[in-house]
Amino acid sequence: MIVKCPTCKKPVEWSEKNPWRPFCSERCKLIDLGEWASDAYVIRGNSYAQTNESEADKLAQELFSHLEEEKKDSSGETK
Ligand SMILES: [Zn+2]
Repeated sequence: MIVKCPTCKKPVEWSEKNPWRPFCSERCKLIDLGEWASDAYVIRGNSYAQTNESEADKLAQELFSHLEEEKKDSSGETK
């Protein structure tokens, strides 16, 4: 079965092999999660339907680095 990725609208196979379904990738899943995590994207005027590939990449990278920092914060101490 082929579904459309809610983030980038690419056709993506809905299968056991795709852990990110209905998204095409972890990146798109994180972007979708970021939608409620940050209103900044809405303020910028980017609708997800219009987000192109490189924009999506940028958003995902921002989100990843943000998550990494949160991890560091909560773990507290360093080795
Ligand atoms: Zn996608």
